Amino acid sequence: MKTIHLNSRRDFMKFVGVSSLFAITPTVANSATIPHIVVVGGGFAGATCAKYLKMWGGASIDVTIIEANSTYVSPILSNLVLNGQKRTSDLSFTYGTLSSKYGINMIHSTVNSVDKITQTLSLANGNRVKYDKLVLASGIDFIKINDYDITKVPHAWKAGEQTNILKAQIDAMVDGDTFTMTIPSAPYRCPPGPYERACVVADYLKNKKGYKNCKVVVLDANTNIIVEADAFGAKFAEYGVEYRPSTTVTAVDDTAKTVTFTEDGTSKSLSSTVLNVIPNQKAASIVFTTGVNSGNWAPINPLSYESVLTSGIYIIGDSQATGQPKAGHIANSEAKVCADAILRTLSGVALYPSPKTNSACYSPTSATEASWLTGVYKYDATTQTMVASNLAAGHSEVANYKKMFLWSGNLFADTFA
Ligand SMILES: Cc1cc2nc3c(=O)[nH]c(=O)nc-3n(C[C@H](O)[C@H](O)[C@H](O)COP(=O)(O)OP(=O)(O)OC[C@H]3O[C@@H](n4cnc5c(N)ncnc54)[C@H](O)[C@@H]3O)c2cc1C
Repeated sequence: MKTIHLNSRRDFMKFVGVSSLFAITPTVANSATIPHIVVVGGGFAGATCAKYLKMWGGASIDVTIIEANSTYVSPILSNLVLNGQKRTSDLSFTYGTLSSKYGINMIHSTVNSVDKITQTLSLANGNRVKYDKLVLASGIDFIKINDYDITKVPHAWKAGEQTNILKAQIDAMVDGDTFTMTIPSAPYRCPPGPYERACVVADYLKNKKGYKNCKVVVLDANTNIIVEADAFGAKFAEYGVEYRPSTTVTAVDDTAKTVTFTEDGTSKSLSSTVLNVIPNQKAASIVFTTGVNSGNWAPINPLSYESVLTSGIYIIGDSQATGQPKAGHIANSEAKVCADAILRTLSGVALYPSPKTNSACYSPTSATEASWLTGVYKYDATTQTMVASNLAAGHSEVANYKKMFLWSGNLFADTFA
């Protein structure tokens, strides 16, 4: 492996022309091979991490993304596909710029397993890839309720085909029909997202389709609306959404479109025209196969995102277990801390001791309004955890709707362009 070292912090700052805390750019000493950093997953976490590794690490490192799909469809804004404000193609990103502009190698295949001894990945396409450092940025998987067909009862919580299936089902509804959705137990991907969806669908049926007799039912596994309770509560009241907290889904019947759940200690069933079940969640399956999970998520050191169970393997984005929200904006933030930490480690430089990350969500609540939620997470050296501060939220307003697209445009560009 090629040895990399820093000549001096001032030298490389001059070289890269930035003053960011994260701009640790290693220089390459004479040696045989360049460290190979492999990132599994090209979503908000993985694409950002790979991009910043190459921006800061330059020719001193090789970076490869292994991503199952050649096109990434952003879950962010995907509820707007349901009411026809966006198409999934508007939320689709490919990896051409990451390759051509930053020199990232792209492999489109699924990683089936990780041999931690030989540091080798086995891919579904039959190939094997060796790594020096491995970043798992693979998102979430669902905890199985029972066997049912997700083309009949979609989750639409991974965007793309699932989003379009749910959209088609909603469009086939007629006045008097019922839309029922279930909200998973926290933690899950995007805390405001399900409440946002209930608002968008209720508004679409009532105000765009003009259906006065449709019902929107929300079965929430949590005891209350877990974020932005005022904003979503007000919208639920305005749209007449039937909100039922503390419900636990126990079975789904895809033919009868029936969900069975417990409420107040009693088992109940509800049939619906459209049934949108968002199951409870856990880290992506490759995290489990690799053995870097503890329970449902992957414990890491927040200074680096390196697994506390296996050195040299880093977990960022929705799969990690720091208590930071599972969201794309903060996944992009974590990815930069991780990229910096990997470069420092390769250079023999101490980790940055006080990282901060930021979370932001804009939630459309109709075809013209949005609310927002943000927070800063700071590393606390005493507890060695990321602690929330500066939490703030904004009510549902027309002015926020435009700002939502400015914010998302910046995030998409920082990740994929
Ligand atoms: C309706 C909705 C609205 C949302 N709104 C917001 C918002 O306003 N703000 C916000 O910050 N977040 C929002 N989110 C959450 C955000 O989309 C996710 O938190 C984010 O996508 C997580 O990024 P990630 O990179 O960890 O995972 P992902 O984006 O899921 O990326 C993981 C990638 O890894 C790939 N992969 C997985 N396993 C393998 C494997 N074994 N081999 C190869 N590839 C693999 C997958 O194909 C996928 O492309 C929203 C989500 C939803 C559903």
